[in-house]
Amino acid sequence: MIGGGQLARMMIPAAIELGVDLRVLAEAEGMAAAIAADRVGDYTDTATVLAFAREVDVVTFDHEHVPQDVLRALVDAGVPVHPGPDALRFAQDKLVMRERLSELGLPVPDWARVQTTAELDDFIAGHGGTAVVKTPRGGYDGKGVRVVRRAAEVSEWFTTIAEDGGDGALLVEELVDFRRELAQLVARRPSGEVATWPLVETVQVGGVCSEVIAPAPRSAGRLADVAADVAITIAEGLGVTGVLAVELFETSDERILVNELAMRPHNSGHWSMDGSTTGQFEQHLRAVLDLPLGATGSRDEWSVMVNVLGGPAEGSLTDRYGEALAAHPTAKMHNYGKAPRPGRKIGHVTVSGDDLDAVVYEARAAAAFFQD
Ligand code: ADP
Repeated sequence: MIGGGQLARMMIPAAIELGVDLRVLAEAEGMAAAIAADRVGDYTDTATVLAFAREVDVVTFDHEHVPQDVLRALVDAGVPVHPGPDALRFAQDKLVMRERLSELGLPVPDWARVQTTAELDDFIAGHGGTAVVKTPRGGYDGKGVRVVRRAAEVSEWFTTIAEDGGDGALLVEELVDFRRELAQLVARRPSGEVATWPLVETVQVGGVCSEVIAPAPRSAGRLADVAADVAITIAEGLGVTGVLAVELFETSDERILVNELAMRPHNSGHWSMDGSTTGQFEQHLRAVLDLPLGATGSRDEWSVMVNVLGGPAEGSLTDRYGEALAAHPTAKMHNYGKAPRPGRKIGHVTVSGDDLDAVVYEARAAAAFFQD
């Protein structure tokens, strides 16, 4: 696996259970997955990645940032890469993704490629005076996403793309009047089998996911069917292998629009580690190894996952274990072994049960023990 963050770390227990020998190429010493980091090296360097790949049967990722030329070099060297470069490019560039989803006839917000402030101001004028501008590459957790009324508000982004040369452009979208955000996860094997988990509701605060409710309340029936169809169409249409997360908006007029894609296990699927028969990390391993996929039903009526963001002002998460675990014995704690820092995802808590209000309360209360 390339990438040594918390997703790689959470892959470790799944690999141990399946008896899969997981090797990690981490980008730095001491990362969340250090315990399995077989090698530390630069994932943008072809020689480093090729040397790592020669020692494994399949290469997969905990992020989408490995450059296309490095990925192509792996494929040319005969290394199985899942997801492959042809799929990953749609998760690496939001403009390429929007183009492809539109081609597939999938529901997306109104969007345009803009290269000048004049083009952006035209789009804004045509969409009620407000729009969402995104840098096509490198954004995460809301960085590189800005709601604007005038193109001048992102003039520095235009300067950057102009300096980068080429046909640099920004993505602009209508500001979607959404009722809530949802996520549909699906896993797909190279041989074609797909399996979807229940549709979930995600709650973001300041562009960062704070809470996930599985299944999404009031989603049984049409909504769940449409979301699963959309995710399968994307997985098949883009040739994705492994876990694919499709972030969705549910609009106030009951439509579903695709926002973002992630081609790896995703924060919106962490609940499945404790709440589903097959967790997303185990399923990702099965999928990239082309093994039969596991059942994806929920173990309990409801599961709620709450991220531990930032963490204690002083000390570590484990300093709080005594009190927190005693007060919330039903909470499943996942500690990423990362130093607390404001806004940083350093762990999560999942609680499952029959009564949604009680489950939400327990999960929030347990997570709150770890934050100041
Ligand atoms: P990132 O790559 O940082 O996750 P996203 O494209 O997912 O960026 O956007 C981050 C958040 O910004 C979304 O979760 C959503 O809350 C909000 N957002 C993004 N696009 C739109 C849009 N077109 N309309 C309204 N809100 C949006």
